[in-house]
Amino acid sequence: MSTKAYAAQTAKTPLAPFTLERRAVGANDVAIDILFCGVCHSDLHTARGEWGGVKFPSVPGHEIVGRVTQAGGNVKNFKVGDIVGVGCMVDSCRTCPSCKDGLEQYCEGPDGFTGTYNGTMSGRGDNTFGGYSTDIVVDQHFVLKINHDESDLAGVAPLLCAGITTWSPLRHWNVGPGKKVGIVGIGGLGHMGIKLAHALGAHVVAFTTSESKRQAALDLGADEVVISKNSADMKKHALSFDFILNTVAAPHNLDAFMALLKRDGTMTLVGVPSEPHPSPFVGNLIFKRRQLAGSLIGGIPETQEMLDFCAKHNITADIEMIKMQDIENAYERMLKSDVKYRFVIDMNSLKTA
Ligand code: NAP
Ligand code: ZN
Ligand code: ZN
Repeated sequence: MSTKAYAAQTAKTPLAPFTLERRAVGANDVAIDILFCGVCHSDLHTARGEWGGVKFPSVPGHEIVGRVTQAGGNVKNFKVGDIVGVGCMVDSCRTCPSCKDGLEQYCEGPDGFTGTYNGTMSGRGDNTFGGYSTDIVVDQHFVLKINHDESDLAGVAPLLCAGITTWSPLRHWNVGPGKKVGIVGIGGLGHMGIKLAHALGAHVVAFTTSESKRQAALDLGADEVVISKNSADMKKHALSFDFILNTVAAPHNLDAFMALLKRDGTMTLVGVPSEPHPSPFVGNLIFKRRQLAGSLIGGIPETQEMLDFCAKHNITADIEMIKMQDIENAYERMLKSDVKYRFVIDMNSLKTA
């Protein structure tokens, strides 16, 4: 099917209208009319070629919420009219140990998982095109059920990446009551990290470089806020954290945070800066048996678990709605940390253009 989209033709050119062809709906496929798509910092890293290996033209977008318009003959859990989500993955090998464990993001197959955009379709060389488009066709295994109220759908879209990328490590490192947890960087991911860690019952400390986000972070559910540039305030929290989730999208000094962990504490990085962080001081790790870890989005079962948890606890992202045509302006504002906290594209703006 012919689909309207927005694409970057090169790393140096702004996103612009583009027409692409979605595959015909196969027996296991679900066709989705896209209602909303969140704007993740990874979209910007990709569209501007900051990560290398980007195939152009590039159609970003992996925080997708839409309505089912067609379902193939083998599709069991979805029917026409259902509200569904698609996140960062649209395929994986399904047979490796990670896929069998429901952790498709760590797929050990020859091509790894297939990204919703900039992904290689298995057995074929072509590029996948993401959610900055009016329709998408996705294998049922990678389609999520959305149980939120239909009036909340724009705020649900960011759960498909920002939500699951923070949920997966918070759960893996057992964040809950009695745990002191830091969230570093209050952007799209970080604001979801605060909401989810708070809902899981932890004592949440937000670390931000933006004084203007102090009250906002408390409103999101943080118990305390620390301006990370203030070293005296940082030192007050030395040796006190069980877990720190670091979402910062730029290289920075990790030691300032490692020193805040308790013995055996862990800091997990989810931000993927285009340049490396300064090498951390190993003494911080060795002398307190601390761990520095990483985490990649989340598997399909845990994404469904997160969506159901959010529906039950009335959790959505705090968003600013934009038109597809305003994407470059949104990217510039995201680079200045000037969004509370996620831009979401109203796909009607593309359909009616
Ligand atoms: P975002 O909305 O731009 O938020 C990043 C936040 O980091 C900013 O709001 C800012 O928070 C802080 N920050 C930015 N520059 C900084 C600097 N120079 N020093 C210190 N803090 C700085 O981005 P996002 O969409 O949340 O994504 C964050 C990162 O995670 C990106 O690199 C993205 O590609 C990556 N990501 C990874 C995964 C994964 O699976 N691991 C999944 C999705 C995204 P304050 O204003 O509060 O300081
Ligand atoms: Zn993302
Ligand atoms: Zn696999």
